[in-house]
Amino acid sequence: MRIGQGFDVHAFGEGDHVVLGGVRIDYPRGIVAHSDGDVVIHALCDAVLGALGEGDIGQHFPDSDPRYRGADSRVFLREVARLMRAAGLALANADITVMAEAPRIAKHRAAMAENLAADLGVPAQRINIKGTTTEKLGFIGRGEGLAASAAVLLDAVAS
Ligand code: MG
Repeated sequence: MRIGQGFDVHAFGEGDHVVLGGVRIDYPRGIVAHSDGDVVIHALCDAVLGALGEGDIGQHFPDSDPRYRGADSRVFLREVARLMRAAGLALANADITVMAEAPRIAKHRAAMAENLAADLGVPAQRINIKGTTTEKLGFIGRGEGLAASAAVLLDAVAS
């Protein structure tokens, strides 16, 4: 078994929606990012890459690469899943925390888990998504941005 963890932050900026776990959520602000700025997927990719001993998302998908401008982060997750399978590993489970004062994620949680599960090749029950505010403290509390952390366990695929 292999364990990994990841963390990601993005600032709010101009725009009318955010993308979290591959779900577009209407919001009066957007996300400042080279890609679509999906903190859930970025944290999850880093967790899986960490478990694989494969560095981090910035090494695999550099933000200096014009190919990734405005990229759908699910493309990153599918590539990370490919590396995982190539290493003979599968996702046992993932536990993700979204930290934001807003938008609230409760009603999007199931759709997010479905997206992540589809990209990682597991049932959605293996993916848990939690939401928390930071009680109005810090940059998240002031509504300047949002963050996500992810923990994963990978299991050897029986051969
Ligand atoms: Mg990021």
